[in-house]
Amino acid sequence: MSDNVEAELSLEEAAAFRVRCRAMLEEHAIAIAIEGPDPRSEKEIAANKIFQQKVAAAGLAGIIYPAEYGGAGLTRSHERIWREEYGKFPDMTAQLTISHGMCMPMLAEYGTHEQKSMFLADCIAARTVWCQMFSEPGAGSDVASLQTKATLDGDEWTINGQKVWTTLAHVCDYGIMIARTDPNQVKHRGISMFIVDMKAAGVDIRAINQIDGGRHFNEVFFHDVRIPKSWQIGPMNEGWRLATAMLMYERVAIGTGSKSGVSTPTYKYLAGEATRRGIIGDPVVRQALMRLYTEETAKSLVAMRTRAELKSGKTPGPGGSLGKLHTAVIAKLARALTLSIVGPAGVAWEEGAGDRDKHAKSVLRSFSATIAGGTDEIQKNIIGDRVLGLPRDIATDIDVPFKDLKVGTQKSAT
Ligand SMILES: Cc1cc2nc3c(=O)[nH]c(=O)nc-3n(C[C@H](O)[C@H](O)[C@H](O)COP(=O)(O)OP(=O)(O)OC[C@H]3O[C@@H](n4cnc5c(N)ncnc54)[C@H](O)[C@@H]3O)c2cc1C
Repeated sequence: MSDNVEAELSLEEAAAFRVRCRAMLEEHAIAIAIEGPDPRSEKEIAANKIFQQKVAAAGLAGIIYPAEYGGAGLTRSHERIWREEYGKFPDMTAQLTISHGMCMPMLAEYGTHEQKSMFLADCIAARTVWCQMFSEPGAGSDVASLQTKATLDGDEWTINGQKVWTTLAHVCDYGIMIARTDPNQVKHRGISMFIVDMKAAGVDIRAINQIDGGRHFNEVFFHDVRIPKSWQIGPMNEGWRLATAMLMYERVAIGTGSKSGVSTPTYKYLAGEATRRGIIGDPVVRQALMRLYTEETAKSLVAMRTRAELKSGKTPGPGGSLGKLHTAVIAKLARALTLSIVGPAGVAWEEGAGDRDKHAKSVLRSFSATIAGGTDEIQKNIIGDRVLGLPRDIATDIDVPFKDLKVGTQKSAT
């Protein structure tokens, strides 16, 4: 964070900064128009990078991060104004959510001076894009069961294993990964966090084909991948604590987005569709639209509270799960409403079929909101245990060395 991050602005300073943000956005935040299919989001990410580089050139990127590391060196009050103004324009950075909402704050909070000097400025300006490599086959909800290994060999780490569901790995320059560094410790210990060069020898990225025709996420295999010793983030074998912090940032990023203020985009879109199709007068449709409006408004308000907590210096806590769960609730409501408004166009499509294409794909994609960033059941467990103080799930494996557990795909001692 910049040294004066908590400083308050005078009314004049706030007004002048708002004008500066708006001027930049009016010139550059024009909705992204992708020509032709973009199943791997390559065109969209290229457009996001161009926009973000303009934000950086205007001195408005990485607002609260020190100028020394490529940030704007401004305050949380400046950041809030930027989010409020950005919220009035089309989203130009949707594909940078992992890079900016999760990897950037982790590097800034836990990175060494050398790591921040080397990576942060390019990440802030989107000259590089970053991914998150936590999930493995057999280690999703229970990610501490991960089996990818990192072994120290002189001045380098050697990585072997496999990650899965890695969003945008194919277009990323770097990733933040957790791997097992000591299987003799219990499963939540003996894990460390690393920066990985996605173009390094031995990194094999394979696309996963999705039901909607997209190929946004991947399996990532590591065969003797070498990374410098200095690319380990945080203390050795304490990666679980850092992973938990990154998951909190993830839930805040998914639950609050990159904008601020009350917004009801799904309601507006579906109310427009209902009007266009002449069914806006139907009382059942109106009732469902009002429920959606209420949920989106409530979610915006919860997001503003979470952002205010961050502004007051709190690291995101388990309350971030509330916003994340709310995103899934809205996705489910929107799915049911889309199907009742657009009918069969919500379940069948031909490539390039315009609106029909769009509706069916949005119905299919809505399911991912209940899984990505931790499933609904896991968010409810976190809210139960750590927000409401209910008894925790019974765990029988917390005192057992990882190598003796039968977890994930591990069938015998490693
Ligand atoms: C669109 C999308 C993008 C993703 N991007 C990434 C990424 O970039 N990087 C990354 O590392 N991962 C990513 N993931 C993976 C995601 O984090 C996992 O899919 C998720 O954590 C669930 O893990 P799993 O798929 O292994 O399911 P499992 O953990 O096998 O869960 C199966 C079912 O069991 C339930 N369950 C499991 N444990 C419990 C419990 N203790 N109590 C109650 N119910 C339980 C779950 O809720 C679920 O319904 C992505 C996933 C999606 C859908």
